[in-house]
Amino acid sequence: MKEVLIIGSGISGMMCAVRCAEKGMHVTLVSPFPSERSQSVMAAGGINAVKTEHEQGDSIESHIEDTLKGGCYINGKQAVKGLCENAGGIINYLESIGTVFSIDENGQPMRRAFGGQSHKRTYYCGSSTGKQIVSALVMEIRRFEAAGIITRRLGNCFHSALIKDGKCYGAVFFDEHTYSLEAVYADATVVATGGQNALFGKTTGSTQCDGYTAGKLFMQGAVLKNLEFIQYHPTTLETSQKRMLISEAARGEGGRLFYYENNKENRVYFMEDKYGPNGNLMTRDIVSREIQAIGKDVFLDVSFLEKSIIDKRIPEIRDLCRKYRNIDITKEPIPISPSVHFFMGGLAVHLNHETNIQNLYAIGECASMYHGANRLGGNSLLAAVYSGSVASDSISGRNGIEKHPDFTNIIEEEKKELYSRLESSSQFPSMYIRDMLAETMQKKLGIVRDEKSLSEGIEDIDYDLSVVDQIKYDSSVLPYFNYSLKGLLTIARATMTLAKERKESRGAHYRSDYSDTDDSLACASLISYDNGNYKVWLDKEREYES
Ligand SMILES: Cc1cc2nc3c(=O)[nH]c(=O)nc-3n(C[C@H](O)[C@H](O)[C@H](O)COP(=O)(O)OP(=O)(O)OC[C@H]3O[C@@H](n4cnc5c(N)ncnc54)[C@H](O)[C@@H]3O)c2cc1C
Repeated sequence: MKEVLIIGSGISGMMCAVRCAEKGMHVTLVSPFPSERSQSVMAAGGINAVKTEHEQGDSIESHIEDTLKGGCYINGKQAVKGLCENAGGIINYLESIGTVFSIDENGQPMRRAFGGQSHKRTYYCGSSTGKQIVSALVMEIRRFEAAGIITRRLGNCFHSALIKDGKCYGAVFFDEHTYSLEAVYADATVVATGGQNALFGKTTGSTQCDGYTAGKLFMQGAVLKNLEFIQYHPTTLETSQKRMLISEAARGEGGRLFYYENNKENRVYFMEDKYGPNGNLMTRDIVSREIQAIGKDVFLDVSFLEKSIIDKRIPEIRDLCRKYRNIDITKEPIPISPSVHFFMGGLAVHLNHETNIQNLYAIGECASMYHGANRLGGNSLLAAVYSGSVASDSISGRNGIEKHPDFTNIIEEEKKELYSRLESSSQFPSMYIRDMLAETMQKKLGIVRDEKSLSEGIEDIDYDLSVVDQIKYDSSVLPYFNYSLKGLLTIARATMTLAKERKESRGAHYRSDYSDTDDSLACASLISYDNGNYKVWLDKEREYES
């Protein structure tokens, strides 16, 4: 039986696991926490598709065009076509496994408007779409788990991949139960570890998504792509632990952005003033930059909506504002500001989601393919489901590996390195370096960047990289937080480098010193690593779109 190893159990990892299991392969599904705690659960607003009951004038072609336009035409065109053409079938599939989408009085599925879309095509489940999809997929996983076709490994964190001569044979994990490094061999290894939120400290996303796996794979030879395109979500609410997302659904239902003038006497609806009646639903990069440019407190008002609409369509926004900031959104506006939210860049993959390393696949948010320079809301849940399915098709069509090389010595060396550094009595606070890195990323790679800020960011990270191999591990935190440090710093350095190299403004990458879009740069950027050296090039041949 073919063995598939899937690292990460959010929506993309689970979807791939279910599809592989259906095709008769055995799957080992690994993550530190249960799927119910993955970032996918946080997805609130919905998932895009054009089905037969679409809004008048809408079409699959229009979904494709909106997605390419939002991505500033550097998305994989053929991949986007596949994504949009399969979206209707994906909604049907999700319904068939128990995802309950919201319906109107006539029993028809409801759709809402999301930024940058020409039509209402975002299907949703109240404001807990991600939670509903996760619950449905978890039930499928359990079915296969009971039959012994899927094996879960919880409490396991990725350490490194088993790669030799450009081929992947599995991965090594830190197992929190045995407190040891353990190898899992496989015919195909699929990375589904989400975005890089924790690199930036407080964001809308999960701290589990820190970019380490992509960073380590980069150090082991995988190519990364489009890292400079980081989506700031314009409407987030500050709380003590994280930035809570005020989903685009609030603006989709009619919510209005404004700031006060004249001692709160006047409200200025700046997005509507500048962009017309649909101004509040401009793409996220534009709204974020406009908010930052205001330089004053900005608010989102939904209080004028009928209470029944708030209760029915955005109840979680109502509840989170009440719970975290004691704000009653039916009566008062919500104070918002932009925050890091989504990563368009990640591991470079071909159309079948295989990386440049044979038998190593990447899916979901950790892979870069569909969103180009900017993602439309509702397209990433779709991409998570679709990419999991695409990877499973490719894996099932391949022959298994007959014999893997012997990695025993390498694994023993890695164990020795980990334990020798852990046993040290030194109290070097590795969490401090993580915090410093987050500060650098927030300050130097913000909504607006320039040569100076990016050069300073690179300098800060290079200093940390120059000492990271010497530091002792902090035994008061899990070993993962220590050994992951170098991978985190390396992917952060790669991100700053690509942002510095792209001397233009495009989508979510805005340079104050190069504010125009340069047509000669209308393609993806790629970066590889060789023993501390970074090589950057543009994918002019569109190698990673085939
Ligand atoms: C607040 C919020 C709201 C959103 N709303 C929407 C929306 O309405 N519509 C939409 O389309 N998109 C939305 N998104 C984006 C979307 O939710 C994500 O892009 C998508 O769910 C990512 O799924 P995934 O499977 O790639 O990764 P995740 O769900 O992030 O799962 C990653 C998995 O990898 C595991 N993992 C991480 N690191 C390691 C490691 N080192 N070792 C082992 N395992 C590891 C994690 O534990 C987890 O199981 C939202 C995102 C956020 C943060």
